[in-house]
Amino acid sequence: ALPIVAVVGRPNVGKSTFVNRIAEADEAIVHEMRGVTRDRSYHKADWNGIEFKLIDTGGIEMGTEDQFQGSIRSQAFEATNEADVIVFIVDGKTGINADDEEVARILRKTSKPVLLAVNKLDTPNKLDELWEFYQLGLGDPFPISATHGHGTGDLLDEVVDHL
Ligand code: GDP
Ligand code: MG
Repeated sequence: ALPIVAVVGRPNVGKSTFVNRIAEADEAIVHEMRGVTRDRSYHKADWNGIEFKLIDTGGIEMGTEDQFQGSIRSQAFEATNEADVIVFIVDGKTGINADDEEVARILRKTSKPVLLAVNKLDTPNKLDELWEFYQLGLGDPFPISATHGHGTGDLLDEVVDHL
């Protein structure tokens, strides 16, 4: 079976944008486990010839604030169970919020590699925004722009290093 890379983070940070950039266009959805884990999609991807499955979490679930936060939490737990590497995406424009801290708390406890990606840093002079993310206690943050592609190559180099 292919190794699994799970992309987690609260809504709107750019998880799907990142996954869609990386996933093989002609083979976007490998399968959906409807009814079981309907809130995630699986995509085949490869980087430098290393193939893996990319999981995009948190697509469609909606509900009360509590259910919403519960779902972010359970996705983080599921990722620590099933993934070989976890990419935790946060929003470099809005900064850290309580949901990010909650996910970080869960991810700090896993022995799996966790890579912290700070998204929406669309221009190089935005790198000052990186400093606050050291607070999450997950090591060096990777600056990326999922829409422009800046930084995603460096992040993927690190991802496949851990596979
Ligand atoms: P998800 O809920 O985490 O899957 O987030 P989406 O991928 O759906 O993106 C949420 C919003 O953020 C969309 O409007 C995206 O176009 C926007 N977005 C995603 N990545 C970037 C980025 O790198 N830069 C900017 N400026 N916007 C982004
Ligand atoms: Mg999404």
